[in-house]
Amino acid sequence: MKQVTVVGGGIIGLAVAWRLRQRGVPVTVYDGGTDDAAWYAAAGMLAPAGETSFGQEALTALMVESASRWPAFAAELQQETGLDVGLDARGTLAVALTGDDLAEARRLWAYREEHDLKVRRLLPSAVRDLEPALSPRLRGGAYIPDDLQVDPRRVVAALRAALGEAVVPGRLTELPPGPVVVAAGTGTAALTGLPVRPVKGLVLRLRGEPGILRHVIVGYADGRHVYLVPRADGEVVVGATQEERADFAVSAGAVLDLLRAATDLVPELAELELAETVVRHRPSTPDNAPLLGRLRDDVVVAAGHHRNGVLLAPVTADLIAGLVVTGRPDPSLAAFAPGRFA
Ligand SMILES: Cc1cc2nc3c(=O)[nH]c(=O)nc-3n(C[C@H](O)[C@H](O)[C@H](O)COP(=O)(O)OP(=O)(O)OC[C@H]3O[C@@H](n4cnc5c(N)ncnc54)[C@H](O)[C@@H]3O)c2cc1C
Repeated sequence: MKQVTVVGGGIIGLAVAWRLRQRGVPVTVYDGGTDDAAWYAAAGMLAPAGETSFGQEALTALMVESASRWPAFAAELQQETGLDVGLDARGTLAVALTGDDLAEARRLWAYREEHDLKVRRLLPSAVRDLEPALSPRLRGGAYIPDDLQVDPRRVVAALRAALGEAVVPGRLTELPPGPVVVAAGTGTAALTGLPVRPVKGLVLRLRGEPGILRHVIVGYADGRHVYLVPRADGEVVVGATQEERADFAVSAGAVLDLLRAATDLVPELAELELAETVVRHRPSTPDNAPLLGRLRDDVVVAAGHHRNGVLLAPVTADLIAGLVVTGRPDPSLAAFAPGRFA
């Protein structure tokens, strides 16, 4: 098969290129660097149950499918490169601080249960047995066993190692001759005219001794949403704000909101070092579902993964590589056609 050019070496472009090369297709990936790369900020929650929201049936099915592919994807990548991507399958605890928070959380849990996503509701005492650092003020919680986490920076490092010299630094200003896969995140709009917009997100990285938290915590705290993602080395990622803005400013108020919610849930986090503040932008679409499929002859798109591009990387890579190699779209791609907003 002819050489395929992938535009964008974020988590999606690299995963697609890796799968293409495994199928015997020569690839070149052009990448504009980390300054506008969403994966660089991403917490790495793989949350088909935690992130599912009302009215997103096809997307929920895709998320569940991708989560099921993550363990094999991570193992294969580690086997090929010797690099560990930090996949952690201990599950997620969703917790609510006030009665109103619990009412809101329960509505979401009920929706998820209707979609056969496992949610085990817990009394406050059982939540604290699982996670002793949580505040005694909590009103309730649930254990979500199928929501995992991975370290996106390690995933990108491993994919880059697997692809070696096939990844070339460079920001393209127009589409190269085909066949081409456009996986340029928020840069996809300028290259294709497709409606991918930036949605600003701030995350914080705290550093302390390992072991404060055992699970990913998704919290509802006085109407504020926050997640806490503990890594094996003691880092705790605190995320994330969500604003319809394209700037990179780190506002004091946004840091304060995240830290207040985080320390309301886990008071001990106040002792940790605030090691990093990072703003990046989710590549989002009008319906917040990704654009996956053929745009025109020789141009395939894999972009617009919004809040779930890390989760969706394995399934996106398999489906897009399959489309490029066989020329036939898998039926599950129909709901995500790039031209659906035309
Ligand atoms: C704060 C925050 C937290 C998040 N948390 C999670 C999470 O917990 N779980 C999850 O699943 N998802 C999360 N996400 C979403 C996830 O990061 C994105 O959906 C995902 O990174 C999208 O991958 P991508 O490769 O399409 O885009 P990106 O990761 O943005 O990568 C795009 C790449 O394309 C390059 N590029 C752009 N234009 C060009 C061009 N013209 N030529 C060459 N290269 C170009 C860029 O330099 C960049 O390297 C989060 C995002 C943010 C911002």
